[in-house]
Amino acid sequence: MRQLIVIGSGPAGYTAALYAARANLRPLLIASSVEAGGDLMNTTEVENFPGFPEGVMGPDLMDKMQRQAEKFGTEVLFDDVTSVDLTGDIKTVTLSSGERHQALAVVFATGSAYRKLGLADEDRLSGRGVSWCATCDGFFFRDRTVAVVGGGDSALEEATFLTRFASKVYVIHRRDSLRASQAMQDRARANDKIEFLWNAEVTAIHSADSVTGVTLTDTTTGEASELPVEGLFVAIGADPRVHLVHGQLDLTADGTIAVDGRSSRTNLPGVFAAGDVIDPTYRQAVTAAASGTVAALDAEHFLTTLPDELLRRTTSDRTGDLAAA
Ligand SMILES: Cc1cc2nc3c(=O)[nH]c(=O)nc-3n(C[C@H](O)[C@H](O)[C@H](O)COP(=O)(O)OP(=O)(O)OC[C@H]3O[C@@H](n4cnc5c(N)ncnc54)[C@H](O)[C@@H]3O)c2cc1C
Repeated sequence: MRQLIVIGSGPAGYTAALYAARANLRPLLIASSVEAGGDLMNTTEVENFPGFPEGVMGPDLMDKMQRQAEKFGTEVLFDDVTSVDLTGDIKTVTLSSGERHQALAVVFATGSAYRKLGLADEDRLSGRGVSWCATCDGFFFRDRTVAVVGGGDSALEEATFLTRFASKVYVIHRRDSLRASQAMQDRARANDKIEFLWNAEVTAIHSADSVTGVTLTDTTTGEASELPVEGLFVAIGADPRVHLVHGQLDLTADGTIAVDGRSSRTNLPGVFAAGDVIDPTYRQAVTAAASGTVAALDAEHFLTTLPDELLRRTTSDRTGDLAAA
C-alpha cells in the first residue's frame, strides 16, 4: 500500500506528484495508456507557460514534467484506472490490466475533455488551425479570419477575445438564437469584427498543412456553402472526466468534482482533486499545475493526521501491491 496515488498525467497530476515526491511520499502516478501527458499532447507551441520565453512544444513540456516528477521518486504507470473504491481509510484503485493498488490518499487529476465536432481531420489539425482555447491560441491569429463554433457564453467570450487579434471573427451557430447571457450577446453584437452565421453547422474542415476553410451546411435547408477561414475555434463545451467517481464524490452543477473552498479536499477524507476536473472556468496549464500543488500539500497534511499504525503499513515500491483480482 502506498501513501499516495495520483490519477492523471497532465500538468495537475505531474505537479501533484512532483510536490509529493519531494515530500518523500514516493507517489504512484497512473498516467493513462493512450492519453498520457494530457491535453497539451494535442497541441504544438505553448507560449504562455512561465519559464519558456521562446515557447515550448506541448509534448516537450509534458515530457519535462514527467521527468521532473520521476527524478524525485514518482513511479509512473502507463495504464488506465477502470474503477476506484474511495470509502474507508484505505482506497483501492483498479487498472485496466486488472492490477489493484491501494493508498491512504488519492489525488484525482483526470482533466476535462473539450467537446469535439466529430469531423475528419479535427484532431490532426489541432494546433494547426483548429483550437479549443482562444486564450491559448488567439495570439497566433493576428490579422487572420477565424470562426468560432458555439452559441453559449464561452463561445461569445472566445469570439470577443479573438477580436483583439483576428481581422474578422465569424460565430457559427446551429440555431437562430443564442444560449449566451444577454450581456455577453450585447457585447458581441456591438463588436464590428464579429459576424454571426445562423442556422449553420460546420460539416467539413479544409486544410493543406493548416486550416484553409470550412464547409457550412444550413440546418434548415441543407444547403452547403464554403467559408474561407484560417482558424476554427470549437467552443461547444467540455466534459470533466468524472465517470470514475460517480456515486462516490460530490459534483458541482458544472459537473466538476466539488472541493472545499480553495482547497483540493473532496467530500471524502483522503481524496483530493486538482486541475481541469475541478475547474469550470480557467482551464489553463499553469492553473492546473498550481492546483496540483494545492492537492499535494493537502494530501501531505492529511497523511500527517493519520495514526502511525496505518502509515507503517505503507511501502514506497511495488512490494505491497495487490495482484490482479
Ligand atoms: C489543444 C489544446 C491546446 C491547449 N493549449 C494550451 C496552452 O497553450 N496553454 C495553456 O495554458 N493551456 C492550454 N490548454 C489547456 C491545458 O492543456 C489544460 O488546461 C491542462 O492540460 C489541464 O491539465 P490537467 O492536468 O487538469 O488535465 P489534462 O491535461 O487533461 O490531463 C488529464 C490526464 O488524466 C488522464 N486520465 C483521465 N482519466 C484517466 C483514467 N481513468 N486513468 C488514467 N488516467 C486518466 C488523461 O488521460 C490525462 O493524461 C490547451 C488545451 C487543448 C485541448
